[in-house]
Amino acid sequence: MKIVVLKFGGTSVGTVDRIKKVANIIIGYVKKRYNVIVVSSAMSGATSDLVKKSKKISNNFISSEYDVLVSSGEQVSCALISGRLNHLGYKSQSYLGWQVPILTEGNHGSSRISQIYKKKINKFLLSGGIPVITGFQGVNQNNRITTLGRGGSDASAIMCAKFFKAQKCIIYTDVDGVYTTDPNTLKKAKKIKVISYEEMLEMASLGAKVMQPTSLQDARLNRIDVDVKSSFIKKKGTLITKRKNISSNKTIAGLTSTKNDAKVTLIGVKDKPGVAASVFKPLSQNYINIDMVVQTSSGNKKETDITFTIKSEDLSKTLKFIKQNKKIKYRDLIVNKNVSKVSIIGVGMITTPGVTYRMFQTLANKAINILVISTSEIKISVLIGKKFVKKAISALHKEFKLD
Ligand code: ADP
Ligand code: ASP
Ligand code: MG
Repeated sequence: MKIVVLKFGGTSVGTVDRIKKVANIIIGYVKKRYNVIVVSSAMSGATSDLVKKSKKISNNFISSEYDVLVSSGEQVSCALISGRLNHLGYKSQSYLGWQVPILTEGNHGSSRISQIYKKKINKFLLSGGIPVITGFQGVNQNNRITTLGRGGSDASAIMCAKFFKAQKCIIYTDVDGVYTTDPNTLKKAKKIKVISYEEMLEMASLGAKVMQPTSLQDARLNRIDVDVKSSFIKKKGTLITKRKNISSNKTIAGLTSTKNDAKVTLIGVKDKPGVAASVFKPLSQNYINIDMVVQTSSGNKKETDITFTIKSEDLSKTLKFIKQNKKIKYRDLIVNKNVSKVSIIGVGMITTPGVTYRMFQTLANKAINILVISTSEIKISVLIGKKFVKKAISALHKEFKLD
């Protein structure tokens, strides 16, 4: 079988008219003699509406029921796609995660696919059918419905490509590929023809919503080439593949920014071993992810300041745990919610000296103050005031010759 996995995102199936267009795209592949496996997200806005409802019911909504609730949007979109294909004379059937079944591991709300049983789907494909599988959901060992984290249909598609040994995995979305930065934020952003798993993973983790970060880990681990394309216009998209397949002389592949970071500073904590661990222990025990951290060295060797960033949604919990923490003493606690992390990403920076300096100088030229810095081999991130983000992205895009 010559299998292709086609994944459609929320906007691509956002209205009945768009679903009709999606059915035509699918038929295009059938006519090219592909066996098509469709994976679909919920209609745009559907999942967020369900999340909002759960919050109105309880601010501590039980996670197993949360998954039953928020995965339900995919049932609607998949039935509509399948219904349209049937209407046009093609044999098609929708499959919920548990019907395949798609087995997952890990916590509710952030599960990972561990196994996809192929028997039923293969039989249906061989009979000439087009299976339309719900993205974002699976089932765990206790036979309970699970979800893969927001944007998780990307992971469903990539894991289908792995288990069914697909020749292609195409992510259809509302932009015609991966751009040097969010094209809806910077008009000068340019489409990237091909990008490595590593760079795309960093971009996604640092704010490029176009792909879900964990799905890229799955793609990289299993060496699945992924095509990102528009479901609205017929154009060549972006190929996400291994570094070996890419010859590029660009230092920086792309830029990202985040929208929902918060900065917390503890002023005047004791400068002695174990203090930082005491600050972060209760946070880690409660699954609060710490992102950037700086500790300023103290002039008098007695006191120091610790600054860190977290997701804004974790802020109130974080403050509660810090205030309850009897193991630490501090003089003041400062919170800033109007911050954003801007990052430059590129494997080219490994071999190009001076990238850090260029980034800092570009921001200095625009009078943008850097609050926190963090780096890895292929990215540099800075925390800046939210109101400077557009200016920073635009200046850095120009500095690294991406315009
Ligand atoms: P889907 O519903 O198809 O999964 P998403 O909304 O999850 O689509 O992702 C597509 C969006 O990602 C685009 O509308 C775009 O605004 C955003 N985006 C952010 N960064 C980038 C980037 N570097 N390249 C392309 N799109 C990006
Ligand atoms: N519908 C889910 C969400 O909105 C999954 C996805 O879009 O991939 O997060
Ligand atoms: Mg998405």
